[in-house]
Amino acid sequence: MEAETLEASTRDIISWFDRVSTNAGVVQRETLRRIIELNHGVEYLKKWLGDIDVKEMDECEIESLYTSLVPLVSHADLEPYIQRIADGNTSPILTQHPITTLSLSSGTTEGRQKFVPFTSHSSQTTLQIFRLAAAYRSRVYPTRDGGRILEFIYSSKSFKTKGGLTAGTATTHYYASEEFKIKQEKTKAFTCSPPEVISSGDYKQTTYCHLLLGLFFRDQVEFITSTFAYSVVQAFASFEELWKEICKDIKEGNVSSRITIPKVRKAVLDIVKPNPILASKIEAVCGDLQGSDWYGLIPKLWPNAKYVYSIMTGSMQPYLKKLRHHAGSLPLVSAEYGSTESWIGVNLDPSLPPENVTFTVMPTFSYFEFIPLYRQNQDSSSGSVDFIEDEPVPLSQVKVGQEYEIVLTTFTGLYRYRLGDVVEVSGFHNGTPKLNFICRRKLILAVNIDKNTEKDLQLVVERGSELLSNHRAELVDFTSSAELVRQPGHYVIYWEIKGEVEERVLFECCREMDASFVDHGYVVSRRTNSIGPLELCIVERGTFKKILDHFIGKGAALSQFKTPRCTSDRMLLRILDLCTVKRVRSTAYD
Ligand code: AMP
Repeated sequence: MEAETLEASTRDIISWFDRVSTNAGVVQRETLRRIIELNHGVEYLKKWLGDIDVKEMDECEIESLYTSLVPLVSHADLEPYIQRIADGNTSPILTQHPITTLSLSSGTTEGRQKFVPFTSHSSQTTLQIFRLAAAYRSRVYPTRDGGRILEFIYSSKSFKTKGGLTAGTATTHYYASEEFKIKQEKTKAFTCSPPEVISSGDYKQTTYCHLLLGLFFRDQVEFITSTFAYSVVQAFASFEELWKEICKDIKEGNVSSRITIPKVRKAVLDIVKPNPILASKIEAVCGDLQGSDWYGLIPKLWPNAKYVYSIMTGSMQPYLKKLRHHAGSLPLVSAEYGSTESWIGVNLDPSLPPENVTFTVMPTFSYFEFIPLYRQNQDSSSGSVDFIEDEPVPLSQVKVGQEYEIVLTTFTGLYRYRLGDVVEVSGFHNGTPKLNFICRRKLILAVNIDKNTEKDLQLVVERGSELLSNHRAELVDFTSSAELVRQPGHYVIYWEIKGEVEERVLFECCREMDASFVDHGYVVSRRTNSIGPLELCIVERGTFKKILDHFIGKGAALSQFKTPRCTSDRMLLRILDLCTVKRVRSTAYD
């Protein structure tokens, strides 16, 4: 009965998605109708639509009326409305259903955290997309029913807003929701760690316990996961330091004194029992692994794991190399595409390498529009516009090969909200587009007429750091800033490196990076010295951990953490500068 239920539920969700994706255009218009009907009369919609009642209108009319009367907005435009909700105003401002929870998102701005409404719809769609993705994964990589998942997941501390609403990251709300439990039951795969560990609020203690319990349940672990790949990389970097202590705990059925939170200690102690045989097995494996720089750590420690599953695209791509090192021969499955504002697309082809993964848009989750983006003529001298935009089009009208910015209308009260992500349509699944994630829209590095996105920077760093591997060193993490105080302004790239590298090599890396920025504005400015030579700063080991701590201290959660790839944040620059141990300047244009 149980096994049949899993099979049936897998079949059901796949055939549901086949249905809605086949009729995606129609489903999108129905979704828009539902959102507007559900929120008929709310202050924000009234402002733009007046008293128009859409009940008597057909879906095409609603769509054209809505897109002609309601303006495109960014988070800043909606902030005053969201702030009133946060302050306790319970009148229908953005939604008819009162909003009791707010999420913190980093989606479109950096540095400053933003509130986004969170409702039960948010958790329900999370459950639905996870179940759908699990169904497709199980076709390629079947797992055993009742197995375990080693999940590196972390809740942040929730707090109350002035008006008494609960605020925290979206993942925090999800882990605390009923849907998180339902997902485990529906997919017949159970997380290794109890809720007390996930919600401890101290990411170091949580990581330790995840590792300890993951190893305690070693033979049952079917796959390893985290929201963003960074957390898996971070957890195994800690494991290299912690493994002896973890083995001791498994041997004695104990938990290290570094776990100081009483309810976490108790929850873990209720689970671990002394297992000296398992402990010595793990010790032996770790002894061997140390000799091979921990290559293939995951399959060697978790022999029944079928894959590693996490977001590996976009700003997570720089961690792929390390992840592949730890995963050895185990497949890497790139996880879904979404944001605190809404889930967007699902990975229906888990066997694809992360570099080629596409995300199939979920046409029932939100109403999506797409702003066509055209890369600007490379020799334009306008420093402020990165792309030329055309009029937004609905999902049914997107074209393969075209780049777009995504616009969302959600069940949670965001209307024609620019998400700030750039995607490219790579094809269709039935009638719904498949997207490549390209980058965040915002330019991150610019001094004058130069324009570089996160993706541009990533490629440059990739080129520069290739040289490190010839010297048995590796890049741990990186960020950058545009130094504008001293003239001429120039880019500064900060690297944390594992291994010793001679200064001569660093000069070469720096030169290579400087020469690899292909943006015409940059090249011209460098030639004329209106942008100075690129500066490479090497920071001491552990600096990016300090940066992580800084963000966690400000309420971020490890589950959603993304290293800022460019910063003008004074505190962050202070940490980076204090930790800089070596500086070199490029000679590329001398
Ligand atoms: P947040 O809401 O703060 O967790 O961040 C959401 C943002 O993370 C999105 O707007 C994207 O820029 C990025 N993101 C989420 N999922 C993916 C993915 N699968 N691939 C690449 N970037 C992603």
